[in-house]
Amino acid sequence: MNQPRYQKLFEPVRIGPVTAPNRFYQTPHATGMGWRMPKASAALRGIKAEGGWGVVSTEYCSIHPSSDDFPFAYLSLWDEDDVRALAVTADAVHEHGSLLAVELWHGGFHCNNRLSRDAAVSPSGQGLHLLGPGSARAMDKADIRALLGWQAEAATRARRAGADIVYVYAGHDYLPLQFLSPRTNRRSDAYGGSLANRTRLVREMIEVTREAVQGTCAVALRMSVDELHGPAGITHDGEAREIVELLAELPDLWDVNVSGALGNDSKSARFSPEAFQESYVRFVKGLTSKPVVGVGRFTSPETMLAQIRNGTLDLIGAARPSIADPFLPAKIRDGREDEIRECIGCNICRSANNEAVPLRCTQNPTIGEEWRRGWHPLRIPARASDKRILIVGAGPAGLEAALALGQRGYEVALAERGRELGGRLLHDSALPGLSTWIRVRDHRQHLLEKLSNVSIYRESALAAPDIRDFGADQVVIATGSRWRRDGIGTAREQPALIDADAVTRTPDDLDNLQGPVLIYDDENYYMGGALAEQLRREGHDVTYVTSQPAVSAWTQMTDEQGFVQQRLLDLGIRLFVSHILQAVAKGRATFGYALSASPVTMTFGSIVLVTGRLPVDDLYRELAQNEAAPAVARIGDCFSPGPVADAVYAGHRFAREFDSSAAVVLRRERPDP
Ligand code: ADP
Ligand code: SF4
Repeated sequence: MNQPRYQKLFEPVRIGPVTAPNRFYQTPHATGMGWRMPKASAALRGIKAEGGWGVVSTEYCSIHPSSDDFPFAYLSLWDEDDVRALAVTADAVHEHGSLLAVELWHGGFHCNNRLSRDAAVSPSGQGLHLLGPGSARAMDKADIRALLGWQAEAATRARRAGADIVYVYAGHDYLPLQFLSPRTNRRSDAYGGSLANRTRLVREMIEVTREAVQGTCAVALRMSVDELHGPAGITHDGEAREIVELLAELPDLWDVNVSGALGNDSKSARFSPEAFQESYVRFVKGLTSKPVVGVGRFTSPETMLAQIRNGTLDLIGAARPSIADPFLPAKIRDGREDEIRECIGCNICRSANNEAVPLRCTQNPTIGEEWRRGWHPLRIPARASDKRILIVGAGPAGLEAALALGQRGYEVALAERGRELGGRLLHDSALPGLSTWIRVRDHRQHLLEKLSNVSIYRESALAAPDIRDFGADQVVIATGSRWRRDGIGTAREQPALIDADAVTRTPDDLDNLQGPVLIYDDENYYMGGALAEQLRREGHDVTYVTSQPAVSAWTQMTDEQGFVQQRLLDLGIRLFVSHILQAVAKGRATFGYALSASPVTMTFGSIVLVTGRLPVDDLYRELAQNEAAPAVARIGDCFSPGPVADAVYAGHRFAREFDSSAAVVLRRERPDP
């Protein structure tokens, strides 16, 4: 322990019959891997334990086929094959002295059961969460007895697989919370009506779980203390207090959060600061003697310490910060907290779950790649030659490539046209709510400054002859992208009809906007909505038009779409959905509207097209066509424009694979032959 100031974070914590070696608790989070990728899951969780998380939790783990989220990736403990698969994760976690927590899960009306084809269940009968078609039938007494049996059997299996902590999961709109909440429980029997009755199922689930684990595992209760549905649901200053009082000493651990929808709990940085759940969960510790864990995108050791000292939490829960930096606890322990790769709260990791694909992260290019590519977040193979490398462009791709190549021991020169490093991050982090995004630059810049084998040249706009004269063995072009002006985007495959005297703007070109501003969004991620917010806050009259049926439609994947739409409405921005740009004339644009046979015309002072981006690859092309030039590669947006996460990944992958003669293999898990 090099950092006595943070000693408190490294105290062991007793949780029922087990002891967490420190206060760092990786709360359950989805990996997009689930039961189909047990080796990849085990490697990912093992790395978390290696990085110092005293408790490492699984993702949601189904107790029975009537809780089936297919094609989304969930774990399961339905049979002995599942036990064997989970045991691999338990071994990987135990190898580093950490505890494994298994989040047993029944989703109730949140599951379509498309794989199992079991009928979905709910407390009182209602529509399926994912629009059905179909409904989740109301559970009778026999169903409740069966559910308790499934929970007990799954808890037994979890124990046999090697779990140290087993969950009862009454959060995130899943079945036990559906029973707790007056919003979804309309029963009139012993499991509905009064709060004591609505709490009965959770109480019984804790009891059967405790019996099943026979004193060898702790029993955790994960509960939403506020559904953010106002008085219609559970609130932290209303029924949640009474529920905690009723169950206070029953679980060995309280894992508390703000949910209902998952997006409330894992709110992006655009809509919540660090420790944003504190005021909601603070009361719990006052009502129980059992340890309490909670989350809040904690990345600062000072904030973590404050959570313990001010009596809010006993254990520092983290999902996203542990994804962005699996070695966060180890870095604090070793006095290297300046090297923490802080989560930026962009929720690209959430999109992995929502798209049913393996986990990825903007800050951490190695997450999800531990098994399939053999990447470790701290270790990288040493250089294989004395080649000197010149990287042109210090955006996310160039910075990450320079850092990873530098860490391999290569001599690297990084040339950047601007005075400041960061590329597109300089613009994007100035948008409302996105200031944390500059951490992608800051982390890399800080580590680069420690590397004596990397030289950074600012205000160095290089042309092809400069590059040839420089004499590097390998040139990497990372010169980024620019926004399109022709209207081609997601919905338009051909250029829009744009009159010669019509002035169109893009996010690259926003100076001196005149009159009412019309933003046309056919990219559908954050830029269109964030720009609308920024311009409105600057005092412009703003109209936002999108080709899609929802504002900033892809932000559904980052659990932000509802928040974005609400914010734009609150700001008085006029919103039009399902309009596809056809033509732009001076001060006038024409759209095809999905719900009308006639085109729609709108007037504007300035129009900003947020449609698609084109690679800035002139330099690459010029160098690549000249055989006398050094070897040249292109990475990031300069090769294929995409989210920042993809640019970071591209920079890292280039560095890993550079000079490597080994065939690049993407390992995949396959069913038994
Ligand atoms: P990516 O996301 O792929 O990293 P960015 O657009 O964020 O791409 O960053 C590209 C960077 O490259 C910008 O900082 C830009 O100033 C820089 N750049 C572009 N052309 C040159 C050049 N000819 N010489 C040096 N730097 C350049
Ligand atoms: Fe944090 Fe974004 Fe990484 Fe998720 S993807 S862990 S929000 S940096």
